[in-house]
Amino acid sequence: METTIDTDHNTVYIHCPNCDNWEGLGIDDARHYFHDIEILEWLPDREDEPERSINKCSACEEEFTVIWDYPPVTLEIKEDEWEGPDASIEISLFEYGIIWQKNDECEPDELCFIAEVPFEDQRLYDSGYVSEDDFDWADIDGILSWNGLTKEEWDELPLGQKVQDVCNYHGSNNLFTTYGATPENEIEIL
Ligand SMILES: [Zn+2]
Repeated sequence: METTIDTDHNTVYIHCPNCDNWEGLGIDDARHYFHDIEILEWLPDREDEPERSINKCSACEEEFTVIWDYPPVTLEIKEDEWEGPDASIEISLFEYGIIWQKNDECEPDELCFIAEVPFEDQRLYDSGYVSEDDFDWADIDGILSWNGLTKEEWDELPLGQKVQDVCNYHGSNNLFTTYGATPENEIEIL
């Protein structure tokens, strides 16, 4: 028996093909956290095909193959709801590689970002919530010598610009991930 994962922007779901049991896990969480439908082993990679694993359902105890085929999910961005380094959200996202917004799911000290994360020769875009605490490891002195600001000027910068600088200096993959990220051609700016 086999089944294919089901996903939305936030969650990966596996449904047991043999009974009603299913499990969902955050799209950024390590896959070994699946425990009701545990991954027993990964099958050898086949070129140009999705990964496959052998999983076991804790309810019916059947083993089956899971095909990790992420369906394309178009990411729709409403231009007037986002900010970025340029007045144009398209230029901000596709040339500067970052945009941000305050939305209902943000904690008071957070913004929601969409950022480019390089992966091989692809341009992928990840979304995530970032606060100052998420980059307390950053080399601020290095960033200041690179962007030419004083420490006081840096402290006054809006969070969006700080995150942009941290991504430019340290690499966006320190704050964002390619796992579950959206390819450029599946992003639509409205
Ligand atoms: Zn089952």
